[in-house]
Amino acid sequence: MQLAELKGVGPKTLQLLNKLGIDTIEKLYSYYPFRYQILKRSDLDISNQDDNIIIDGVVESIPSMFRFKGHMDKMNFRFNTGKYLINVIIFNRGFLKNKLTPGTTVTIFGKYDKIHNTIIANDIRFIPLSNEEKIEGVYHSTYGLSSRQIKGLIDLVLDNINVIDYLPSNLVSKYNYMDKETSIKIVHNPMDIKTLSNAVERLKYEELFTFMLRVNYLRKYNPDTTGLARNVDYKLVDEFINKLPFSLTNDQITCVKDIYKDLTEVRRMNRLLQGDVGSGKTIVSIISLYVNYLGGYQGVLMAPTDILANQHYINITKMLEGYNIKVGLLTGKLKAKEKKEIYAKIASGESDIIIGTHALFSEDAIYKNLGLVITDEQHRFGVNQRSNLKNKGHMPDILYMSATPIPRTYALVLYGDMDISNIKTMPKGRLDIITSLKNSNDMKEILEAMYKELKENHQVYVIAPLIEESDKIDLENVTDLEDKMNKAFGKLYKIGVIHGKMDDTSKEEIMTKFKNNEINILISTTVVEVGVDVANATMMVIFDSFRFGLSTLHQLRGRVGRSNLQSYCILISDKEAKRLEVLTETNDGFKISEEDFKIRRSGDLFGIRQSGDMRFQLADVHNDFDLLIRAKEDTTIYLDNQKYLEDKHIYNLLNNTSNLD
Ligand code: ADP
Ligand code: MG
Repeated sequence: MQLAELKGVGPKTLQLLNKLGIDTIEKLYSYYPFRYQILKRSDLDISNQDDNIIIDGVVESIPSMFRFKGHMDKMNFRFNTGKYLINVIIFNRGFLKNKLTPGTTVTIFGKYDKIHNTIIANDIRFIPLSNEEKIEGVYHSTYGLSSRQIKGLIDLVLDNINVIDYLPSNLVSKYNYMDKETSIKIVHNPMDIKTLSNAVERLKYEELFTFMLRVNYLRKYNPDTTGLARNVDYKLVDEFINKLPFSLTNDQITCVKDIYKDLTEVRRMNRLLQGDVGSGKTIVSIISLYVNYLGGYQGVLMAPTDILANQHYINITKMLEGYNIKVGLLTGKLKAKEKKEIYAKIASGESDIIIGTHALFSEDAIYKNLGLVITDEQHRFGVNQRSNLKNKGHMPDILYMSATPIPRTYALVLYGDMDISNIKTMPKGRLDIITSLKNSNDMKEILEAMYKELKENHQVYVIAPLIEESDKIDLENVTDLEDKMNKAFGKLYKIGVIHGKMDDTSKEEIMTKFKNNEINILISTTVVEVGVDVANATMMVIFDSFRFGLSTLHQLRGRVGRSNLQSYCILISDKEAKRLEVLTETNDGFKISEEDFKIRRSGDLFGIRQSGDMRFQLADVHNDFDLLIRAKEDTTIYLDNQKYLEDKHIYNLLNNTSNLD
């Protein structure tokens, strides 16, 4: 069955569902609540500042309505609970206005503020609640399609779900799990907390189990431990290093030696190079590519975005000037003709070093003798792509580079037999970024600080967690910030906006303008996080900082402080100030990552969430780490039993790479 065949799903709803990533029936019932609420009528007498109030009453006044630019609206009406007369505010439910006539009985859900005698409602219902307590899932929604409407659609298909259960029955009984179908039904319609948590755990466990199964399968059946033993004299490497415009830090030298050893020994390299933003990983990668070149092999450097690939290309071409090494660039954006040319050069061996994006591993890229693959921001390089490399003949040596240190235990579970090199000290002369913690009452001071930098002709990043206003009404978003910044600086300075929903061309246009100092203030979501290098940007202002993990914030601020200019980061947060303090105290990414680890904050710890094969529906690598360890152990035992691998579904899971990312 198709989504479009569902009752009430027309083209518009279909489009909204697609916006949420739901384009099949299966994805619909696998669209799980992101949180639950317990529905029980509140007692206003005892509540003071209650974030989750549920109360019945009668609409007392015709709602007044305000419309903002874009899709936004806000309604306001008086509400009578029988005991109190309260002011209700609700955003983005303008379509309910006609139903909210005075005298109508409704149930209001929201946040009660006794001092202002106001409820900021997040939902209004016209059907009275039953008297019992009820657990209800809340789904990520979008304008025009509410959590409850989504739930309504899910209920339409729940009786007819057809799932593949990947958990072997011995594990299901070992852990006392229910079957998958029942779990899915319970997750959408929970009866009680206990069964719900069992169902959630079961689904999470299956996600982690199938993930670990693939990781361990690849490891077991493609061990790839034999590599290329190159014959390269270290003297040549030393000469190269001595000709660099700066001297390497001790850590950089140690890393180079680790890698040199890997590349000249027969054991295949599988190494992670970790170092803070700006610690100088790129030069280490260039030296590695040079060693590989001297050994007679082609090497590639893969970056996660076109912008970064270009940046590396320019940088590396410059560094290798005078060495007669042919460097090529291969990104998805090249014209067909240009692509063909570079493919030919890759195949003939004319290109020695190729810099690019994922395009480096497209089917048409056939290397003459690929010896080394380096990936920048390694967590974006999934299990799947690693297996693709295998298809290009021998297995090259691999070096992952990452600016977000992963604590060792994690790395070992996720990547197995990986060696790790760290750059812990920064190049000499680098100024620490001065970070301060502010709240939204300090806005005047913050704007003044921005102005001070702008006046010097320096540039400023402004980061917001959201693109547009959403149900989470109290978070800053890019659209609102653009208005604010325009009010404050629009007359004097150029303001640009960039976010993940823009297409690549527009993104690149904005980035280029920012690089050329044609934009002074860049307002952005976290898309600037990875690697972008604008030396003249000296300030970053991050709104609603509490929304982000420490490592993400640290990564973000690494966009400034990339020159000898003093740089600043202002973290604005009205909550969780304590947690964020460490960022004002240290610029050491390793310390910050450990702190993150201790706090065990879910979500974005290593940015792994966003990366291909680490995207889980329910499980979270961080919060469910114990479950992941269990899955690792279970899959190891499971893989020892050849019989299991003959199972049709398991076979498909392990051999069909299309669903890997
Ligand atoms: P990242 O580790 O974030 O990739 P880069 O490799 O981009 O950092 O290095 C940041 C800047 O520091 C570059 O301009 C690079 O040339 C410079 N750099 C790297 N190593 C040194 C060093 N040992 N001394 C001085 N500058 C260095
Ligand atoms: Mg880098």
